[in-house]
Amino acid sequence: MVVPDVKITALKPLSEQHYKRCPQCDLIFQLPALDKRFVAYCPRCHAKICSGYDWSMIRLTALAIAVLLLMPLALSEPLIRIRLLGTVINASLLQGVWQMAIQGDPFTASMVAFCAIGAPLMLPLSLLYLRLGHWLGMNLRPVLLMLNRLKEWIMLDVYLVGLAVACIKVQEYADINVGPGLYAYIAMMILVQILLIRLNIEQLWERYYPVAQPAVEPRRLQLCCACNYTGLPDHRGRCPRCHITMSRRAPMSLQKTWAALIAAIVFLFPANLMPISILYVNGERMEDTIFSGVISLATSGNMPVAIIVFIASILVPFTKVLALLFLLCTIHLKIDLSLTARMRMLRVLGWIGRWSMLDLFVIALMMSLVNREQLLSFTMGPAAFYFGAAVFLTILAVEWLDSRLLWDAHATRNTEPDSADQSRPAA
Ligand SMILES: [Zn+2]
Ligand SMILES: [Zn+2]
Repeated sequence: MVVPDVKITALKPLSEQHYKRCPQCDLIFQLPALDKRFVAYCPRCHAKICSGYDWSMIRLTALAIAVLLLMPLALSEPLIRIRLLGTVINASLLQGVWQMAIQGDPFTASMVAFCAIGAPLMLPLSLLYLRLGHWLGMNLRPVLLMLNRLKEWIMLDVYLVGLAVACIKVQEYADINVGPGLYAYIAMMILVQILLIRLNIEQLWERYYPVAQPAVEPRRLQLCCACNYTGLPDHRGRCPRCHITMSRRAPMSLQKTWAALIAAIVFLFPANLMPISILYVNGERMEDTIFSGVISLATSGNMPVAIIVFIASILVPFTKVLALLFLLCTIHLKIDLSLTARMRMLRVLGWIGRWSMLDLFVIALMMSLVNREQLLSFTMGPAAFYFGAAVFLTILAVEWLDSRLLWDAHATRNTEPDSADQSRPAA
């Protein structure tokens, strides 16, 4: 057990004017004291810097406990019930993942389990750990660092859309009824969204590990890539707040992004060429690739669902790969295009990537719903694993790309260096 080495004082977080470096474009500016109603955005790249919200730990803990109480119901109770070939079949989240693990492949099932169960569970558990750990004097840094990265992996909303798509696919064979678990699931999803909106990690850092900003020339201040602290490294080169080694740019950002992107491109071939779902009707095997699945949805009159699945499973992964390739090329070749447009593109990529998991959620649900042995059964094809791996890798590629490298490439290309602009405090 490590006791925090910084004494927690009654300092009001974000209550004083201080210098802040933008984590997305590296501009240094003066951040005024933030009122509860205000959110600060970077004056150059418009990245959200921090908000003045300050929910007390009591409120956050109460919400976390409510999520934990709802979770067993939401995960194990049936979300929907169908009557298929004279039998009532229940589909719950846990059951879908379990069917995928035993009938399909445990790796794909663990990807679905991580996004739909693991990551949403980690959020309330982390908040309880913060509350209890602070009380017992435990090291809270790893949990605060993890909370920073957790948001994009919580995919409860994507799962709900997956449930709607599965219902539309199943309605050709069966009557559908709402299960009791669905109410608990929707309540849990709303509470998790409120937690994500109200959770102010910058405030939590300042509450548990307040570190004063050194009084030096502003341009000497560095940003910690892990916790977004703006200051100077300690004598061992570490961030005084989170104890991670401080570096000017995210270490090995381009190499890691390229590695994840190339692996994702390789995986996208089998993901699109091999069958992703297999349906057995009276012993006859019918295979569907991602594309043929979309076509059969469209021809069976489910055009809106076909469009959703097409966007999530085909358009988004391919657009993401092409857009990332383009952004990496502009960094390497120092191509000077609108930085605001490229920053916007990177943010959109970060937001849309998680929606590609939709198809895997639909498959997990269909596997637990349509399972009548020889008569009618649905199972996943080999492409599901490659597709899931490609989605995970593209999400990681976007996360690993340090957007400040775009600004660096722009600054080195232009004769008039941007750094002069960076050191000037913004109003
Ligand atoms: Zn910025
Ligand atoms: Zn740090």
